[in-house]
Amino acid sequence: MVGDVKLNAEIKDLTRIERIGAHSHIRGLGLDDALEARAVSQGMVGQTAARRAAGIILAMIKEGKIAGRAMLLAGQPGTGKTAIAMGMAKALGDETPFAMMAASEIFSLEMSKTEALTQAFRKAIGVRIKEETEILEGEVVEIEIDRPATGNVAKTGKLTMKTTEMETIYDLGTKMIDSLTKEKVQAGDVISIDKASGKISKLGRSFARSRDYDAMGPATRFVQCPEGELQKRKEMVHVVTLHEIDVINSRTQGFLALFAGDTGEIRQEVREQIDSKVSEWREEGKADIVPGVLFIDEVHMLDIECFSFLNRALENEMAPVLVVATNRGITKIRGTNYQSPHGIPIDVLDRLLIIATEPYSETELRTILDIRCEEEDVEVTDDAKALLTKIAQETSLRYAIHLITASALICQKRKAAEVEIEDVSRAYTLFVDVKRSMQFLIEYQEQYMFNEVPDLPQEQP
Ligand code: ATP
Repeated sequence: MVGDVKLNAEIKDLTRIERIGAHSHIRGLGLDDALEARAVSQGMVGQTAARRAAGIILAMIKEGKIAGRAMLLAGQPGTGKTAIAMGMAKALGDETPFAMMAASEIFSLEMSKTEALTQAFRKAIGVRIKEETEILEGEVVEIEIDRPATGNVAKTGKLTMKTTEMETIYDLGTKMIDSLTKEKVQAGDVISIDKASGKISKLGRSFARSRDYDAMGPATRFVQCPEGELQKRKEMVHVVTLHEIDVINSRTQGFLALFAGDTGEIRQEVREQIDSKVSEWREEGKADIVPGVLFIDEVHMLDIECFSFLNRALENEMAPVLVVATNRGITKIRGTNYQSPHGIPIDVLDRLLIIATEPYSETELRTILDIRCEEEDVEVTDDAKALLTKIAQETSLRYAIHLITASALICQKRKAAEVEIEDVSRAYTLFVDVKRSMQFLIEYQEQYMFNEVPDLPQEQP
């Protein structure tokens, strides 16, 4: 069953659903090569300490050095916790799986909490599968010399050429090796040869043939490049998640279940079978594990059983990096009567690298709003932007961001091209923010049903 897994890159694209919209302006963490956060870069503004910390974790993930680590982004609402997680996802690229969920999603009638979490974990574990394929005419292939050539040449390298030139493989190999003696080449370097011009290039540099190879007899070439030392290889590499492999193998309709998202519970035997197949592939050198990232937002919504599951799941050698976020302070751990910081049990907290996010300055709010206006393609006057910034300071950044689209629609109605103060004010009166809504409820609570409003504000478990 597992053997005939269909590997389909498109499936992956479709299942990698990201929350576009609120964070569509985020294109990375905005760090430089030394992992320092640039003030404004890749749609990211401020929050430099948190972004830097996230970048270090990212570097470790990329190097494949850590698996099963967990990090907590803690901070007030609207301070960019989700934005930072999105930035990490973007920076990791398509090869590394990134699964994102809100903790409340695990409470479903269709599957148990632990099944939902297991699926989330397996969505964040990639399997990079290498498939050796037939080489078709005209394709570009890499030819790797897997051990140093004998004689006076002791270099290894790779050569890229078109298959139509295949018949001259030994010629080209000879040329390459000989040329390598003039250039410092490390194992694995990619060298390309342009047959028409006879130019050999390494790492983008090219240099002319230093000798007239055609004048050399075949025997000479053969000595320099003995048979067997050249290997033609063309590998197709796919990264699929363990969850995708699970689903494909657990249902009669196979991968279609992935499109519908209706995967149901997956039997433990199926997972065990898949795990053993994957470890077989790893031993044979056909596959590697790519630990990705699992991001759980609103982590305080998990209950004590889920936290205990997380503790255990992180021990697994294939575990992804877990990033959780919360805006709660000291609050009840769901499913218990105990309080703890962020509603997370102390033993789980102890495993987490905690990154705090800070409230934004006026300038940072203004820059984020500028970026959002551009992202939403809305022309806004400077005065209107200043008003939006003031609103963000006094209510919340998220509310101010929402007002951009609303103001743009109001502006459109009056057939103007640029959002002015009056449009923002109108939107502000039409849509109340949380503070005003709360005030309103307190004033008029008598008129609502079930009006026992407790003392507000209060942490909800
Ligand atoms: P909550 O605790 O309520 O979930 P949060 O900390 O996850 O909030 P976000 O959703 O990340 O906050 O931020 C609110 C909005 O502001 C989003 O649209 C986000 O993309 C944007 N934003 C927040 N911080 C930044 C930042 N540093 N740079 C650019 N955009 C940001």
